[in-house]
Amino acid sequence: MPAHSTSRHVIGEHRNAMQSALLVWFEGVRTARNMPWRKPFDGHATPAGRAQRAYEVWVSEIMLQQTQVATVIPYFNRWMESFPTVKDLAASDIDTVNQLWKGLGYYSRAARLLAGAKKVVEELGGRLPDNARDMQASMPGIGRYTAGAICSIAYNEQVPVLDGNVTRLLSRILALHAPPKAKATTEILWDGAEALVKDCDRAGELNQSLIELGSTVCKPRDPACGGCPVKAWCQAYRIAHNKPEADLADIEDGCTLCAPVPLEHAARAPPVTAYPMKTERKKQREELDMVHVVEWRRESERWFLLVRRPDAGLLAGLYEFPTQPNISVDEPAASAPHLLPLLAGLLIRVPDGLSAKAPKDAAGLRLAKTYSAGDVKHVFSHIIKTYRVVWAVLEGDEEGEGPPALKLEVQDPRENGGQGGKAKGKKGKVGPVKDASRKDGEETPPSAMWVRLADVEHANVGTGVMKIWKLVRALWDE
Ligand code: SF4
Repeated sequence: MPAHSTSRHVIGEHRNAMQSALLVWFEGVRTARNMPWRKPFDGHATPAGRAQRAYEVWVSEIMLQQTQVATVIPYFNRWMESFPTVKDLAASDIDTVNQLWKGLGYYSRAARLLAGAKKVVEELGGRLPDNARDMQASMPGIGRYTAGAICSIAYNEQVPVLDGNVTRLLSRILALHAPPKAKATTEILWDGAEALVKDCDRAGELNQSLIELGSTVCKPRDPACGGCPVKAWCQAYRIAHNKPEADLADIEDGCTLCAPVPLEHAARAPPVTAYPMKTERKKQREELDMVHVVEWRRESERWFLLVRRPDAGLLAGLYEFPTQPNISVDEPAASAPHLLPLLAGLLIRVPDGLSAKAPKDAAGLRLAKTYSAGDVKHVFSHIIKTYRVVWAVLEGDEEGEGPPALKLEVQDPRENGGQGGKAKGKKGKVGPVKDASRKDGEETPPSAMWVRLADVEHANVGTGVMKIWKLVRALWDE
């Protein structure tokens, strides 16, 4: 028999009181975390002014995905200095936005912002849509939560928000202990969020109060219930304090969604942290990549080879050292069996001595040494990567021109098993080259390039590459 009524999971008659309490509380904490994107709603703003606010809120919301507020603030400020309007962003390119994003992680977010800005300028008249439905339908990478956050904050539209923090908050307010991924569960939570923002003339502030309360007060562990503005209406708080609930009026009205709270809580009233229902985290898969930090040196000159990742997928458009991904875990740390295929895909001439097939007249270019630098661990949301790092040093040159020439049409050597794609054997260059697949006049960055030692850390590389670079630098910095 169900133990409680479905009415427990509905924001009911106390809605107005809860709205007032939330707005009063938010007024007191609005500026506490110095968020530059948090500004009072300006009811007199022009449509253009509101669209500008929508752009700012959009940037902040995308940056805040999986990233702490304190980390985001300096990135947001730098971003707005570089791209004060959506038109400025749309006129940029993936390398410039990746450079600004450097260190923030989850680089696909930067690519989505750029793609969205281009769409706004090219197809939507230069302004973000002014309602959540159109925004969700027309903007790439904007889902119901982000559309709700932007449109309630920038346009004061009465649309709900439900992110991880609000999910936890509402699960406790409604004492909902139901499978988190179930459609019925999310529907109850969206309905709760919608009920709270409905008929509120300060919709953006109401939503921000829920987000703020969830992240700073109703925290996963040790929620600060004592200072919570909605504890008088919080069902989890009531249950935790053994306050009785009205009897279940009618069996028809019983909740069939909630699962019993875990046995560990059975002996006493469950604490508020029993809500929401916990789920087992999906295990991250483990992968091992062989990374080659390829150096070419001549006397005091030192250059390093960087390869550009594909424009889509993990770490899109960023540079990395030549890498053979997903090798066998049994690969010995000291071996470099993937170096030749990788270099064959990148250089016009492979260094003598690396392979019996290498031409003997390879203009003196030779592999002077390979050195196993060790392993670097780098954790993505769904993958635990181990980078097995080999430092390979090339010496000698061709006609005194500097680092070995790169193939002009170098493709990602991983795409065809390490053989370098349709290289034509022309001399490559270090700077940008034209790409026929891009729009008129648009320059595409080189798919591989030599970078001087001092410039490696300033290239468009991700955090994982910086860890590898630090490991290898320690070999000669010691
Ligand atoms: S009373 Fe406690 S559990 Fe309930 S919403 Fe407030 S902080 Fe969360």
